[in-house]
Amino acid sequence: MNYISTRNNQITQRFSHAVLDGLSHDGGLYVPESLPDLSGYLTNPVSYTEMACGVFTSFMAPDFTPGKIQAMLDSAYSSFSETNVVKLKQYDLFNVLELFHGPTLAFKDIALQFLGQVLSELLAREGLSLTVLGATSGDTGGAAIAGLAGNDQCRVFMLYPTGRISKVQEAQMTANISDNIFPIAIDGSFDDAQNIVKQLFADAEVRQQLNLTAVNSINWCRIMAQMVYYFYAYQLAHNNDRNITSLSFSVPTGNFGDVLAGYYAYRCGLPVNKLIVACNSNDLLARIFESGVYQPLDSKSTLSPAMDIQVASNFERLLFELSGRNSEYIKEKMAQLQSDGLFEIEDEIMASFRQLFEVYSISDTETADMMRTMSRAGFQVDPHTAVGMCAKERSLEENVICLSTAHPIKFSESIKQITGTDVPCPTGIAELLNGSQRKYNLSNQISDIKSFLLSRP
Ligand SMILES: *Cc1c(COP(=O)(O)O)cnc(C)c1O
Repeated sequence: MNYISTRNNQITQRFSHAVLDGLSHDGGLYVPESLPDLSGYLTNPVSYTEMACGVFTSFMAPDFTPGKIQAMLDSAYSSFSETNVVKLKQYDLFNVLELFHGPTLAFKDIALQFLGQVLSELLAREGLSLTVLGATSGDTGGAAIAGLAGNDQCRVFMLYPTGRISKVQEAQMTANISDNIFPIAIDGSFDDAQNIVKQLFADAEVRQQLNLTAVNSINWCRIMAQMVYYFYAYQLAHNNDRNITSLSFSVPTGNFGDVLAGYYAYRCGLPVNKLIVACNSNDLLARIFESGVYQPLDSKSTLSPAMDIQVASNFERLLFELSGRNSEYIKEKMAQLQSDGLFEIEDEIMASFRQLFEVYSISDTETADMMRTMSRAGFQVDPHTAVGMCAKERSLEENVICLSTAHPIKFSESIKQITGTDVPCPTGIAELLNGSQRKYNLSNQISDIKSFLLSRP
């Protein structure tokens, strides 16, 4: 499969290039040149990794053979506590797909464990070394570190805001870590961290000395890896009840990565009624849905910090698809965003957006109410999952699966505060919290971070 950029559909790259580059050089995002029909994987009962291998084969050919893909999948998911990676459960009135059984207890492990395998293999093949640089509001950092730990050809620098992430999240980035990992606690906010990272990516000296890459959800490999659990959820739901022949999903959303994977699953043959986009009060997507205007505003802090984002980068891919893969259109809109801070989406494109998607912005009050209601029913849910459940309640759809993106222990402080209940500590977490921690405390000055980055051998 070749990959094209959303801003230039003439240039084609192989899968391995799309993964190593992350972002295309014209600023666009990579998308596959064509979308395979994967509907053959819907109902035959197979294991999660068998299904994943089937889904990935056409996207990764000819760079990776099915045998190699299967081996990488087996290593990627061996650290999960569920043999089949995810679990479909009933929480009171909700159907919940638990995506948090990986090493850092958030859904990002599913994509980053596999991306870690792919990067190791590509670096070894090409004899390259790479510096992964990122900013995290909590979950991405831990999952990226867990996916890339111990890989000598790849160093990971992860910036996070001191004191603004949960204890478990910090321990996952700093405890018992290998030598190639550099967690950097900066004296500033997540936005500061994000800005520093953006500036470092644009810095000529840094680019000249380091082979930089990003592992955020603009990387196609992450979207591809996340498509699998939508197909797998269908297999589980259909095999439980043969009358179920199509599903809707409610997806807690920040950067639009997770729900975009659901969209690509739909385009590859999964019968989907609606994709319910659940945002917190960072309501960019809800405003687009209402008005057809894309206008990022300042982000607000909420109970669900992994979704406190006001630029939904992956929305560019959806717009590319909905515009009939028109890269000139995307280029024009993105230039307008740069110059005017907003752009308008035409009625025709909005109509196809509204046909498949619903978008709801959920307040902290509603989120906390949902967490209390679920707690009274005997289920602890983290605030992100609760946002998705609130959106499901607003929708009129039936047969909705709510994606649960984080284990409650990751947000035990807010669960305790809101519901008054303690979250039991799963195996391994107590050891992690007591483990020896290594981190680097730096200011929020770009010069400090830059000299740290360049001074590491
Ligand atoms: C990252 C994250 C999200 C948002 O996912 P996107 O792909 O950015 O939309 C939701 N919940 C949790 C717990 C997360 O870590």
